[in-house]
Amino acid sequence: MVNAIDKEWGDLDILVNNAGGQFPMPAELISENGWATVINNNLNGTFNVSRAMANKFFIPKKSGNIVNITAVVSRGFPGMAHTGAARAGVQNLTMTLGVEWAKYNIRVNSVAPGIIQTSGLETYPDMVREHLKTVSQVIPMKRLGTKEIGYSLSGGFVASTMCTVYLPGQYILNYGNEEQKREYLPKICSGELVGSLAITEPGAGSDVSNVKTLAKKDGSEYVVNGSKMFITNGVFGDFILAVCKTNPEAGAGGISLILIDAPTDGLSRQPLNKLGWHASDTADISFDNVRTPISKLVGEEGMGFYYLMKSLQIERLVLAIGGYAGCEAAMRETLKYMSEREAFGKTINKFQVLRHRIAQLASEIECVKQFVYYCTKLTVDGIYAVKECSMAKLLATELSDKAMSELLQCFG
Ligand SMILES: Cc1cc2nc3c(=O)[nH]c(=O)nc-3n(C[C@H](O)[C@H](O)[C@H](O)COP(=O)(O)OP(=O)(O)OC[C@H]3O[C@@H](n4cnc5c(N)ncnc54)[C@H](O)[C@@H]3O)c2cc1C
Repeated sequence: MVNAIDKEWGDLDILVNNAGGQFPMPAELISENGWATVINNNLNGTFNVSRAMANKFFIPKKSGNIVNITAVVSRGFPGMAHTGAARAGVQNLTMTLGVEWAKYNIRVNSVAPGIIQTSGLETYPDMVREHLKTVSQVIPMKRLGTKEIGYSLSGGFVASTMCTVYLPGQYILNYGNEEQKREYLPKICSGELVGSLAITEPGAGSDVSNVKTLAKKDGSEYVVNGSKMFITNGVFGDFILAVCKTNPEAGAGGISLILIDAPTDGLSRQPLNKLGWHASDTADISFDNVRTPISKLVGEEGMGFYYLMKSLQIERLVLAIGGYAGCEAAMRETLKYMSEREAFGKTINKFQVLRHRIAQLASEIECVKQFVYYCTKLTVDGIYAVKECSMAKLLATELSDKAMSELLQCFG
């Protein structure tokens, strides 16, 4: 691994030790081999990789960051004696390395995420699942964590948060130069920078190649004029990745992606009053001789349309995930209410007509979710799954409309 990193990048800034593995089992039944495997995987692996990376990269340059991912099982958890011991070991190792390697300016920290509700948990033995019920009671939300941000029950919050990462963020990652990546990506990840991707205009929506916003070169700067419509994060965002014509005669081949930091002279941004998603700001933007350095061009001039066509399926996929996750979140809340609300002497989850509705919706949500997982896998495998991602967005968002409306009826 050290050699591969050295060959590919020649340096390392941050090491995240995230690998781990476990099998829940009562302590008295864990074999010597099973114990050793888990300790080796979780604890020894963390030490070995940290030592190797420190010797090769961090100690020689007297700089580096190590983040060890541990888990809350280190605080005592039935069925997890081996994992808990290993994770507790990682926590101690983190503190020890932090003290020892401070002289090399290496920061060593650990993060211990809480327990996330996944389908894997269902396969755990009863003793673990029983304990999880107790654990849930000391969590302020009285439930385990959920894995998708889409479960937050606020579509607007999800839209705004996902926007920066998956809209402007992915273009900077895939087509930006090193300087742009260093300037924007860490702050996008940390949440310090909020950004938008401005494609749509009053006269160009589905017809992306018809954008009119013009970016003309003037010395070392572009001068941008035009307007954009319906731009997520447009009002409060720190930067806009603007889709501009740099060569109006060249049609789709004259479109470029240009970063504009905000606020700046000549840029005005008005919030739009929407039907919903009030947690997400959506803007009407105008550029009046807005100046931005030529170094803010992302990728090659004239390639913007092709970058967009290649990348929009990620946006579709993200919306599909939000669609089914929103359905699942609404279903969870509905089932909870139905198990508490009584009518005609029994809880309403006993009424067969409602149970039929829930069964039908639950089946549809599961089917769409599995299809979205399939699209995600295609995308992760590097396949250009534009057809499948478009289908997923269509099905998941339409199902979301239907599920919200039908589940709402269960609340009276
Ligand atoms: C909440 C929200 C957030 C948004 N955020 C952003 C953002 O961050 N950045 C951004 O750039 N844009 C954003 N948009 C804009 C969005 O991408 C556009 O609304 C979308 O591309 C459609 O464009 P339009 O609204 O101009 O509709 P139009 O393109 O004018 O379409 C109007 C209708 O005609 C139909 N239609 C269009 N072309 C055809 C065709 N060839 N055949 C058949 N029917 C057709 C459409 O399906 C639609 O029903 C956002 C929109 C909303 C609602």
